[in-house]
Amino acid sequence: MLKIPETLKSRLGKTENIAIVIHRNPDGDAIGSGLALQKYFQKKGIHTNLISPNIIPDYLKWLPGTENVMVFDRDEKKVKESLKKADLIFTLDFNDFSRTGEKLENILQNISGKEFVMIDHHLEPAGYATYKFSDHHKSSTAEMTYEFIVGMGGNSLIDKEMATQLYTGIMTDTGSFKFPNTTPQTMRIAADLMEKGAEHNRIQIKIYDSFSLDKLHLLGEALNSLVFLPEYKTAYIALDQKTLQKHHYKKGDTEGFVNYGLSLEDAVFAVLFLENEDGSVRISFRSKGLFPANEFAKKYFNGGGHLNAAGGRTDDNIEKAVKLFTKKLPEFKEQLIRAHENK
Ligand code: 5GP
Ligand code: MN
Repeated sequence: MLKIPETLKSRLGKTENIAIVIHRNPDGDAIGSGLALQKYFQKKGIHTNLISPNIIPDYLKWLPGTENVMVFDRDEKKVKESLKKADLIFTLDFNDFSRTGEKLENILQNISGKEFVMIDHHLEPAGYATYKFSDHHKSSTAEMTYEFIVGMGGNSLIDKEMATQLYTGIMTDTGSFKFPNTTPQTMRIAADLMEKGAEHNRIQIKIYDSFSLDKLHLLGEALNSLVFLPEYKTAYIALDQKTLQKHHYKKGDTEGFVNYGLSLEDAVFAVLFLENEDGSVRISFRSKGLFPANEFAKKYFNGGGHLNAAGGRTDDNIEKAVKLFTKKLPEFKEQLIRAHENK
């Protein structure tokens, strides 16, 4: 459970205006946590805005409350005003302002006289927060948000909508409770959320069994082009703009693709390269066992994340990105083989 300092409790008792900021390209965990925390504060009578740096992907739009999320890319002025008005700014599911994108990062960095509260489960939290709830052993920010609300004495305020939002965050960040980050406490919280009204099967269907035909066709092409490098126990997929456009790519369509690489029996490292419209490349890394996906992302692709799930980016084109990746694999060969042996 989260221990909430008395100073924060009394501070929240006096707070009238809160802004919650989540990370760029928000996932189920960021949005689920943000929505539930927003509703909790609203129930406490605190005016609360939820700010996302960019749009909510289609596969998460069914979550109750997404229609009121403030999107920085779309409504910069409103977001700036909301931040200025806030007595307290919560940041959820990220460890550094840079995860909100360059422009918003700048605003957050230069905002004066504001105090921040961080709720996050990534390694290496930055130092901006006065109140820092950071624990990389937690499955998800949603798990921590649940513990935050309960720690505030708000257990009975968690209604069906909030349970749905939090359950979605936990379910997506644990890969439906199968990733190593799933703990007995994760399961206990999920059970409580079910009792509070989260419909696990409906949520599963909304997230994983609601794909468009375009997405399935794109998946087919991605799987067909998957490369496996047996020497390095590594699988990768590279999707360029031409392929994405052929299947009318929409943000979020490739969510989960990288995990297919890891479903290969002998793969302990799987990577997805995705070419952006401007020619830069976004990269997702996943690993099994002790292979540090985040180290690779940090060292060569301006990113980071968790041991088994990380991300990064490069301004190089997609061919160069793949080339750099394969060139650097030998450096990690020993670790890859060891992770494969200990599987
Ligand atoms: P995804 O591949 O789903 O975009 O990201 C997987 C995980 O890696 C995310 O949950 C996030 O924690 C982390 N991650 C993704 N991109 C970045 C990045 O650019 N920097 C850092 N530090 N972590 C990232
Ligand atoms: Mn998360």
